[in-house]
Amino acid sequence: MPPVRNRPVTVSGPPVHEAGGVLTIDLAALVANWRELKRLAKPAECAAVVKADGYGLGLEPVARALAQAGCRTFFVAHLSEGRRLRARDPASAIYVLNGLLPGTAPIYAECNLRPVLGSIPELNEWIAFRESSGWRGGAALHVDTGMNRLGLTLREAAALAERRPEARAGIDLVMSHFAVSEDPTHPLNARQMGLFRELRELFPNVRGSLANSSGIFLGPDARHDLVRPGVALYGANPTPGHTNPMRPVVRLDARIVQVRTVPEGETVGYGAAWTAQRPTRIAVVSVGYADGFLRSAGATDKRREGADATVKGKRCLIAGRISMDLLAIDVTDVPGEPPRRGDMVALLDKDIGVDQLADRAGTIAYEILTSLGRRYARVYREE
Ligand SMILES: *Cc1c(COP(=O)(O)O)cnc(C)c1O
Repeated sequence: MPPVRNRPVTVSGPPVHEAGGVLTIDLAALVANWRELKRLAKPAECAAVVKADGYGLGLEPVARALAQAGCRTFFVAHLSEGRRLRARDPASAIYVLNGLLPGTAPIYAECNLRPVLGSIPELNEWIAFRESSGWRGGAALHVDTGMNRLGLTLREAAALAERRPEARAGIDLVMSHFAVSEDPTHPLNARQMGLFRELRELFPNVRGSLANSSGIFLGPDARHDLVRPGVALYGANPTPGHTNPMRPVVRLDARIVQVRTVPEGETVGYGAAWTAQRPTRIAVVSVGYADGFLRSAGATDKRREGADATVKGKRCLIAGRISMDLLAIDVTDVPGEPPRRGDMVALLDKDIGVDQLADRAGTIAYEILTSLGRRYARVYREE
């Protein structure tokens, strides 16, 4: 069900009043983030990476909002994701990052998808398919410049360039991927940019793409013809250590199931890992690690700094181990009327961002976003 303009609409999950958690996705902020990255990247084209179900926020609503804003090129990781996107979007260019799995070339033609070819066997299989089928659709060529994950070696690319594969394989994009663009001081960035420039000279008539979200902030030498932001669209900070230039996109509210008082010296939760240092009022909330709220985000006696929650405007600490379906919040210091059963608390809001939660859980915003649970009610806001 497509969201209706100007009205928040629940598009998936249980009804809001039954849900343990309510995930609100601000599509206007998503679009504003895309526009900001597009402005920065100019004159390069700004694509959007919507792999892993739009980084956990929902492939269809995310891609639809971006396409309406003018995004014309999308990247997914899996063929199945490309197929899903194509079903809703007949026009955009859709590249499949994980490449061509054996025997799947006909599906690329059927769905008008472009494989990102990352090895010589993939390239050969694609060329053979194009020659036998007459399919004329495009593909990207992925060349490794230092990530050592996917992509041809530069030596392979140079040998290949002499045989001009553009025509036979329909190569319309050469790309590579940064390994550490979030750290602009790392010497690998300059090395990758230099190697990518050499690569472009081998394929002078093909468009080039190097930058992910953080790569866009490395300056004009990183941007080439097309940039491929993912995580920054969804509100994570592409410039760690500096103010986040992106708007938050995700908000997570969770329901209080009960409020109880724990005497000083008693422990809260599994493992008896968090001890009350004073008589403590605890709000137990209906979200847990089965909802993707990582178990490592809870505070313990050994590590008092867990994730935060906002309860009636007050920042509170998540106390003890996070359970599968529940977590506990120390709400002792909430001023005024104590919180009550049925009240909502915020686990992600404009102050508690995905980067901060990731930091407290010992991970990165990418993992927080792509772990967001399936039991939440999801509300998509268009403005
Ligand atoms: C995931 C991915 C991106 C997007 O990266 P972000 O850091 O999320 O912006 C770009 N290019 C490739 C090849 C990727 O795998």
